[in-house]
Amino acid sequence: MSASNGSQAAEPAPGRGAVRDDPLVVLKGVNKHFGALHVLRDIDLTVHRGEVVVVIGPSGSGKSTLCRTINRLETFESGSIEIDGQALPEEGKALAQLRADVGMVFQSFNLFAHKTILENVTLGPTKVRRQRPAEARQRAMELLERVGVAHQAEKYPAQLSGGQQQRVAIARALAMEPKVMLFDEPTSALDPEMINEVLDVMTDLARDGMTMIVVTHEMGFARRAANRVVFMSDGQIVESAEPEQFFSNPQSARAKDFLGKIL
Ligand code: ADP
Ligand code: MG
Repeated sequence: MSASNGSQAAEPAPGRGAVRDDPLVVLKGVNKHFGALHVLRDIDLTVHRGEVVVVIGPSGSGKSTLCRTINRLETFESGSIEIDGQALPEEGKALAQLRADVGMVFQSFNLFAHKTILENVTLGPTKVRRQRPAEARQRAMELLERVGVAHQAEKYPAQLSGGQQQRVAIARALAMEPKVMLFDEPTSALDPEMINEVLDVMTDLARDGMTMIVVTHEMGFARRAANRVVFMSDGQIVESAEPEQFFSNPQSARAKDFLGKIL
């Protein structure tokens, strides 16, 4: 289809950036249990630099656990995960560094309630990245501008709408200059009229070449911005295909069944 076969990047679709050849996030044979529950089963997944992978699948299929495992919020029992050629460290300084390379945006915005919007965005860069406060502030204001909430910089999270808070959460993650951004159902907790303002920010990021792993039920976003759709069911990656192909011609019974319920 539209994928490039050679080393030249394919002409991207309107919402998509070009994908480079080098792998940035590589999972090989990852297995994880919660007690007796085998929640990630032999997960093999390679995400290339600049690629946007949308992860879909039924509730309970392991999508959140996959994100949390990539970010080391969860441990895993076997297999390997590398970010930009580095194995996931167990703990300590190296882990803090790695977490800084992996930005994460959750369904609940998780902003610090007692800090201003600006402080929410400057905290990580000054504490973890050791940026000077003035530099961190300037960069934070640029990011807040980019996500359209710069005029709210001195307010507290509760004074903002859900859509605005989620855009701040995206700015906060970007302030760490991550190599990859993980989004776990970033619009599921939002009122319908706020969903698009968040998806628009994400589409812009995708177009700018950010590497992204996005768990979402927003199929319009998947069609517009994803280079690839990964379908999970029962802890396994069941299908991985370009969006056009996946939506028009899903291969497995489980994917057909899932799409039949949501489309
Ligand atoms: P999804 O995000 O696709 O809905 P999750 O990754 O949240 O799925 O969950 C996958 C499975 O793991 C579910 O059966 C869920 O109940 C279980 N699970 C998730 N987190 C925990 C936990 N901390 N302890 C025990 N079981 C969990
Ligand atoms: Mg989930």
